[in-house]
Amino acid sequence: MDKILIISNRLPLQLKIDKDTINVKPSVGGVATGMKSIYKQYESKWIGWPGLDKEQINPDTEKKINDVLEKENCVPVLLTHKDTELFYYGFSNRTIWPLFHYFTQFTEYVNDFWKGYIEVNRKYAEVVFQHIEGISKIWIHDYHLLLLPALIKERYPEVMIGFFLHIPFPSYEIFRGLPWRMEIMKGMLGADLIGFHTYDYERHFISCVRRLLGYETTINQINLENRIVKVDAFPMGIDYDKFHNDAIQQQQRSVKDKLKIRKDIEQYFLTDHERKLVLSIDRLDYSKGIPNRLRAFEYFLYKYPQYREKITLIMLAVPSRDVVEQYQLIKSEVDELVGRINGQYSSINWTPIWYFYRSLPYESLIELYNSCDIALITPIRDGMNLVAKEYIASKTDGKGVLILSEMAGATKELSEAILINPNNKEEIADAIKQAIEMPVEEQKERNAILQKRLQRYNVEKWAQDFMKSLDNVKVIQARSLAKKINEPILADIKKQYNKATNRILFLDYDGTLVGFKKDPSHAVPDEALYKTLDQLSENSRNEIVLISGRDKETFTSWFGEKKYTLIAEHGVWIKRAGEEWQLIEQMQNDWKELIRPGLEFYVDRTPGTFIEEKNYSLVWHYRKADPELGWHRAIELKDELTSLISNYSLEILEGNKVVEIKNSGINKGRAAIKLIAKKHYDFILGIGDDWTDEYLFEELPKSSVTIKVGLVNTHARFNVETFSDVRDLLNTLVKLG
Ligand code: UDP
Repeated sequence: MDKILIISNRLPLQLKIDKDTINVKPSVGGVATGMKSIYKQYESKWIGWPGLDKEQINPDTEKKINDVLEKENCVPVLLTHKDTELFYYGFSNRTIWPLFHYFTQFTEYVNDFWKGYIEVNRKYAEVVFQHIEGISKIWIHDYHLLLLPALIKERYPEVMIGFFLHIPFPSYEIFRGLPWRMEIMKGMLGADLIGFHTYDYERHFISCVRRLLGYETTINQINLENRIVKVDAFPMGIDYDKFHNDAIQQQQRSVKDKLKIRKDIEQYFLTDHERKLVLSIDRLDYSKGIPNRLRAFEYFLYKYPQYREKITLIMLAVPSRDVVEQYQLIKSEVDELVGRINGQYSSINWTPIWYFYRSLPYESLIELYNSCDIALITPIRDGMNLVAKEYIASKTDGKGVLILSEMAGATKELSEAILINPNNKEEIADAIKQAIEMPVEEQKERNAILQKRLQRYNVEKWAQDFMKSLDNVKVIQARSLAKKINEPILADIKKQYNKATNRILFLDYDGTLVGFKKDPSHAVPDEALYKTLDQLSENSRNEIVLISGRDKETFTSWFGEKKYTLIAEHGVWIKRAGEEWQLIEQMQNDWKELIRPGLEFYVDRTPGTFIEEKNYSLVWHYRKADPELGWHRAIELKDELTSLISNYSLEILEGNKVVEIKNSGINKGRAAIKLIAKKHYDFILGIGDDWTDEYLFEELPKSSVTIKVGLVNTHARFNVETFSDVRDLLNTLVKLG
């Protein structure tokens, strides 16, 4: 059986120390339920904070706690009071939480919080290391542990790590404000699979990766130097059957077994059958939009007086993070608003809002869900919102109307609800009226669709899908590594090289021999590179060919005096050592005047881009542009050029952050073939990193050693990770002589 570690800030249980005994109560939260199926399938351990400060635990109780937790397959991470202050109440809940929920005005950037966050993430890592023996997979949960994936990956690269973020991931414009944005991004990218609730959060994350770290991304894949990371949306579900079946059972209870809350509600309906109950349940958090909801409800009573005395809002606000100032402020605001509305509209027989500031047991929640006509859920931002799903699941007779904020992740799956903008008081008031007046048939129709969907994609399916995807990433990664040069492959290359008497080495320049720079003119050859190439070319058995898209003037200034053959402009020009440049083939360049104005138009509209004019081609560079804008414009440009060049013998070449227009049929492959046709070579090496090098890989004889830089799909026989690996390889060849 595979072994897996699950890691979250809190363990899925509550501990209580009662003199000498330690009591454990399992939590009923969503994640814990989802993980149950994982527990069945794998030999699992859950690592997390048990909810007690280290200072509360003496060595004797620590041993007892460990024993109790071990029986539950849990491992504690012990945190001091100061740790929780800085890490939990500090960085997690006063920096990440508000920022990721777009409450920039509440976001605090405090260096000590950040240090505490790093330290506690390290403490989690230490506990993980103690239990990692035999572990093949790790699933890390949520925003408290954003640095943990990389901490584990550095030490144990072979362990597959999944990370799931349960809150929104904000757009780049918000995220970039974080002083430690790079560290957070790199921390998350330690995972092999990164999951979000919605596609929006996923694309925000990918956009940040592209903009901040410059990695290439394809749809939902990020190509790091040495690893592929997959990013995907997995909307977390609920244990649908449990909510639905428990709701049925509770309704079937005899009068004496009924919960008090049910009896009270029935009493309420006795006075007037037409009465409607509106329900709202949230933690008392500023992201939940409770004050706007109250203002909208107040406005509803004002705008539609016919419903006064006929509608009651049951508002359950669960205390949360009440040591944080913003939470205290929101509590005062809510208290005041409830007081104001009840004071204004109450009558002897009717109170508009029943307000509960506490949590309720599960059975009472089910009763509330089941008996309320309308659920009014209006977060300003919410990663998912499970309450909305639980409400729908508990509507056993199919009646009931869900009014849901479009800012909750859950809306993506609950589009049959009445969707509202939580900042639009008018719209919410009208939605309440619409809900009251909605015909029962329509309610049932909408709920039937919703229920079917929630039943199918339940929390178990969510967890299973995530784990399946993690396995899948492993397959993708293995595929990308299949051709990576390893010891036996290297030994074989060395053997072939040693044996050969006439060798030719085709080496691309940018991305292959040097790293990319924002400005191509900065990517100049360094001394070490000259030394390697010189040593190789001094060997009489070798012919070194630098084959590049660079223009011949640049190449002349860098390598004009060297003993290498130079091929410039992707195969237009050739220069042998000591000779002048020659055109490889005759060709025209009168087409440039037609194309240039079009390219200039793109330069004007896309800051950071520029045109490079080579003798027989025009190149539009967008490396310095905003990555997303550059990418979009490149697609647009290629589209436009395709129709423009149809009367000419031209082709469009897409390189690394460049679009190049050149005479067709001219490419690195063709140039290389011409060269090797002139002599018999018994060792041919071709190395390149981008799309234009694929021509080279395709055209060279099958027996050649072709190598692609970067772990991506290629026609080359082998891959290496970066240009430094190329340099290492070349230096190895130098030593062979
Ligand atoms: N909940 C609870 N007791 C309560 C009120 C709510 O256990 O008194 C549960 C509720 O059933 C739901 C969760 O708390 O599963 C709230 O999840 P949601 O995604 O709606 O919001 P979050 O608090 O995670 O932001």
